[in-house]
Amino acid sequence: SSATIANMLRDGYRVDVEDDPQAGLFRAADGSYECILVTSAYTTYDPLRLCAQLRALDRTRLLPVMLVADRGDDAMIARALELGVNDYIVRPVDQQELMARLRTQLRRKRYNDRLRSSDPLTGLHNRRYLDTHLPRLLARAAARGRPLSVMMADIDCFKAINDSWGHQGGDDVLREFADRLRQNIRGIDLICRFGGEEFVVVMPDTPLDVAETVAERLRVAIASDPFTVDGGKNAIAVTTSVGVVATAGAHDDPATLLKRVDLALYDAKNAGRNCVVAPAA
Ligand code: GH3
Ligand code: MG
Ligand code: MG
Repeated sequence: SSATIANMLRDGYRVDVEDDPQAGLFRAADGSYECILVTSAYTTYDPLRLCAQLRALDRTRLLPVMLVADRGDDAMIARALELGVNDYIVRPVDQQELMARLRTQLRRKRYNDRLRSSDPLTGLHNRRYLDTHLPRLLARAAARGRPLSVMMADIDCFKAINDSWGHQGGDDVLREFADRLRQNIRGIDLICRFGGEEFVVVMPDTPLDVAETVAERLRVAIASDPFTVDGGKNAIAVTTSVGVVATAGAHDDPATLLKRVDLALYDAKNAGRNCVVAPAA
């Protein structure tokens, strides 16, 4: 039964058991689970229907699902695999086998999560990661009454760099830009490649004046030393424009904050580029 299986996993994992399939589906969608085990139970519900629902819901679509089936129930197992179940285990369940299969699913999930949240060119977080974590960081700052600042940096005249040095040269500049960004930003700040040559940094516990100092340091770190392209054969000057904003009380939903920082960046471009604009809210 579900309880027996939960017991097998007790050391090493937190396991929640839900006997009602609809309630289970809702909990899977709301919770931060890493794997769902569906047990095929006698006649009380259709496990395949539950598997199909888990695959259909956006919030659970990417969760690993394992079916616990009766030995010999090949038709159900085949159907479940067709529906997108990741693995199955047959009764009587062997604890070692269960643990091993679960470990495989968790490893795969964590690997996929990392891929989905990082930008392949720069290794920074990507926009999807920002969309997931900015709301959480904002809520935490609000709950603790702490400031939070956001900076948006865009490489100046990047199109001209691509035109002169090719897409490959442009990519070299993006990678080096990301490295300098990492070197000039605290480890706890969230750095993401927001779009083509646009980067966003979220700085928890940071008021506007401090964030403006950080942005200015970054601007100088970019402008002061030329970037190498062409495998080190050529050096080119690169500059960046930066917008900075801080949270301003209760109205700070993620979208508004990003809109404000985008406007600040726009002002920096209009002010002539290679500068920082940090308007008070
Ligand atoms: P501004 O100073 O106003 O920011 O001008 P800009 O030329 O930097 O901005 P614009 O938006 O006109 O051009 C951005 C260019 O970035 C256009 C696009 O082809 C290029 N780009 C976007 N993503 C990549 C990428 O991954 N690699 C390379 N090499 N180029 C990219
Ligand atoms: Mg640009
Ligand atoms: Mg741009």
